[in-house]
Amino acid sequence: MSNKPWLRHYPTEVPPTYDYPKHNVAHFLEISADKYPNVTALEFMGRKISYRSLLEQTYRFANALLRLGIRKGDRVAIMLPNCPQAVIAYYGTLLMGGIAVMTNPLYMPRELEHQLTDSGARVMITLDALVDRVRTSMEHHPLDFIIAASIKDYLPFPKNLLYPIKAKKDGMAVHLNYNDRLLSFPEFLQQSSADPCKVDINPEEDLALLQYTGGTTGFAKGVMLTHMNMVANTIQNQLWFYRYRIGQERYMAALPFFHVFGMTVLLNQAISLAGTLILIPRFEINQVLKMIDKKKPTVFPGAPTMYVAIINHKDIAKYDLSSINVCVSGAAPLPLEVQTRFEHLTGGKLIEGYGLTESSPVTHANNIWGLRKTGSIGVPFPDTDAKIVHPDTLEDVLAGEIGELAVRGPQVMKGYWNKPEETYKSLRDGWLLTGDLGRMDEDGFFYILDRRKDLIIAGGYNIYPREVEEVLFEHPDIEEAIVAGIFDPYRGETVKAFIVLKEGTVPNADAIKRWCKERLAAYKVPKVYEFRDSLPKTLAGKVLRRKLIEEEAERHDKA
Ligand code: AMP
Repeated sequence: MSNKPWLRHYPTEVPPTYDYPKHNVAHFLEISADKYPNVTALEFMGRKISYRSLLEQTYRFANALLRLGIRKGDRVAIMLPNCPQAVIAYYGTLLMGGIAVMTNPLYMPRELEHQLTDSGARVMITLDALVDRVRTSMEHHPLDFIIAASIKDYLPFPKNLLYPIKAKKDGMAVHLNYNDRLLSFPEFLQQSSADPCKVDINPEEDLALLQYTGGTTGFAKGVMLTHMNMVANTIQNQLWFYRYRIGQERYMAALPFFHVFGMTVLLNQAISLAGTLILIPRFEINQVLKMIDKKKPTVFPGAPTMYVAIINHKDIAKYDLSSINVCVSGAAPLPLEVQTRFEHLTGGKLIEGYGLTESSPVTHANNIWGLRKTGSIGVPFPDTDAKIVHPDTLEDVLAGEIGELAVRGPQVMKGYWNKPEETYKSLRDGWLLTGDLGRMDEDGFFYILDRRKDLIIAGGYNIYPREVEEVLFEHPDIEEAIVAGIFDPYRGETVKAFIVLKEGTVPNADAIKRWCKERLAAYKVPKVYEFRDSLPKTLAGKVLRRKLIEEEAERHDKA
């Protein structure tokens, strides 16, 4: 089955095949700065940064990395909320041929350590407030440099600080090379020239991003995305959103850039269209509503929970949301009621799309201006083939039948970092097996039914049960534990832990919760605890997570 039958659902302006330019992802910024130097690229806490200034600072960053001895192919970890430094560090890294390892600022030392060690990152760019956490994670993987940014850097009077060289963990010196440095972001930029940074890359082979996402092994795997993967998906997004006004769109940048959805659909798309990004470091509903009212964004990509928070806000009538024209929802299913109420409130379009880290991420979307179907993730993007296959035999199934969604296109990853076996399991003859179960209807619209993998998505955040279970297993009182996603009216899902205690111990959910909080980012900590005598298992001794989820759903239905 190819995607040809449903090409008719594409907006008429979208060409069925497109000749994607072969360049560095950061070249989008160079083009926009060349054509629209005076357009505002970033708005952050009252400060405006033009395309000219953004490119100049990005060149400085790229040249400064080169001066430190960072070379093409080196990994550069970026652990920042949405702020100017995140944009500069990302494009600066790409310009000098580095590979950006986008890292969630909520990560705790244990999670960070895995990501830094696995990726072999040499430099970390983070917030000053997070430096201690980074140092604690460096025992097994000493970074060569930490560059600390401050929210104050981009206030009208930046405070330039050069941090002393200190790297300690619990009072013990951590081994660092002789030239280890902790530099402030402004100091780092000032060290180098703003001359164009020219490092040759092969866009089809060289990596732009090592983006961590979970897997069956518990800890996250690095998804290798090339420059071409990212360029193609950015352009596919542009083709879909074909009524844009170049140099004029205003983007509500609430989705985090450290997630590939925010990276492509928001950051790369806005920069490639010379749009203005209104940066929001953290989604706080009152703040977001004020910003929409005052800053008049026209485009607002988001996760369903963001739109839920907006439509349910008690004072929503006080805010003018009419500037919003287009919103693309992804990462989790978008309920119909949310779509209808949001569109009514704003007068704009809210459409559902679908994707995953392994495909940069978008592979499907409903038409913005044309046909769309409720509950469907839409049709495949331009130049993207999609089919439903039998999960075990991998043979195509008929329209209407349920199977695993497989996709193929220029946005599909090169593979997993240092994991050839995992790559082989997911990539077959160019087809990416998404791990999501779904179906396709007669018109070529796709529907996602369930995740084949056991990913839990709570409020747009991915939680991998094995990782949480490993922490629970380490607790001295716990004999066995399993976690599952259970229904939550606001976050879509929340984490529930089913626990069997060791003999002679007393159930204490609060103590276990504290244990998890010390070891995991807050959003991964189970919210609900159930203590049992045993867990349902297969004959081979594998715990039946699905059975627990079904029992939970039955209980929810009866309630
Ligand atoms: P990530 O790799 O973090 O982008 O997560 C990808 C996963 O999110 C997919 O494999 C799906 O399980 C889920 N997902 C993304 N978009 C949707 C959607 N529109 N509906 C249902 N699930 C989705």
